[in-house]
Amino acid sequence: MQALRNGSTPTSASSSHGTESRGTESHGTEGTLHADLVVATDGRHSVLRRAAGLQPTDYPVPFDTWWFKLPRHASEKGAVAGIVPAFRDGEAMIALFRDDYYQMGYLAPKGDSARIRSEGVERFRERVAALRPDLADRVASIRSLDDLHWLDVRLDRLRRWYVDGLLCIGDAAHAMSPVGGVGINLAIQDAVAAASLLAPALLSGHVGVQELAAVERRRRMPTIVVQTVQRIMHRAVFVPLFAGRTPGPPPALLFVLRHAPVARRILPRLIAFGPRPEHAPGFARR
Ligand SMILES: Cc1cc2nc3c(=O)[nH]c(=O)nc-3n(C[C@H](O)[C@H](O)[C@H](O)COP(=O)(O)OP(=O)(O)OC[C@H]3O[C@@H](n4cnc5c(N)ncnc54)[C@H](O)[C@@H]3O)c2cc1C
Repeated sequence: MQALRNGSTPTSASSSHGTESRGTESHGTEGTLHADLVVATDGRHSVLRRAAGLQPTDYPVPFDTWWFKLPRHASEKGAVAGIVPAFRDGEAMIALFRDDYYQMGYLAPKGDSARIRSEGVERFRERVAALRPDLADRVASIRSLDDLHWLDVRLDRLRRWYVDGLLCIGDAAHAMSPVGGVGINLAIQDAVAAASLLAPALLSGHVGVQELAAVERRRRMPTIVVQTVQRIMHRAVFVPLFAGRTPGPPPALLFVLRHAPVARRILPRLIAFGPRPEHAPGFARR
């Protein structure tokens, strides 16, 4: 397997004897690497995927996300309600729990980024405080708009994740919506599945397309399931919200998500492990 260094500009060419990748390092040196297999883990703008002629199918997403952090106090315990967005007047915001901070995502209709930037940081703090009054005491920690990371949200998926000598996994194979915050989980699970399924072939010195197809077969179902749930949520909740047709999701749905014991138990499991959990192969365990 081969990894390309950050900062290089790779292109790849496949043959039945493996893959050649030509790259230019940031200091200008050109070189060619030969490998039995290239695993493209270069994210949602994957240049390896493009170089291999693989084209993802795009699905419409009604919003972009502004990611930022807010401090989290030790006394604040996590609860599943945190993954249910806060809604208000055509706006929505998610708060994902981390050890000592909240990973916040402010969801705004696609195309609104210039307006939000032009309104400035004070207006943004007001929006956050209005959506989450319980976190209003710490919005000053957003010092400037530079503390916000704008994400052009995409949801796409390759029809075929491989060509001879090259396999795409993670965002390179399927960019995820932030709904549920599962992009990292799926990317890691793809990598675990790839390691488990490809190790014997790599050890034997020959990795063929059937081994690459086996990785895709294993990971395609959970990817489709999660992306389908995300697309349903986009249509049922976010499209009407941003069109001003509803103030938020149906109250019954919110009640079930926040209070029903089944949802409190099952939802975190689904988010953490996904529809098809992966386990580290024996050779990778200590
Ligand atoms: C601001 C932001 C917040 C997010 N928050 C969450 C979250 O809370 N929870 C969650 O589950 N998901 C989140 N996501 C999505 C999540 O980050 C991705 O789904 C996940 O990281 C995909 O992993 P990956 O390894 O496939 O790609 P990435 O993590 O994108 O890794 C790709 C790597 O390839 C490198 N690379 C790219 N091009 C080249 C090149 N030409 N040469 C060399 N190296 C290259 C990049 O530098 C990067 O290190 C967030 C995404 C963003 C942008």
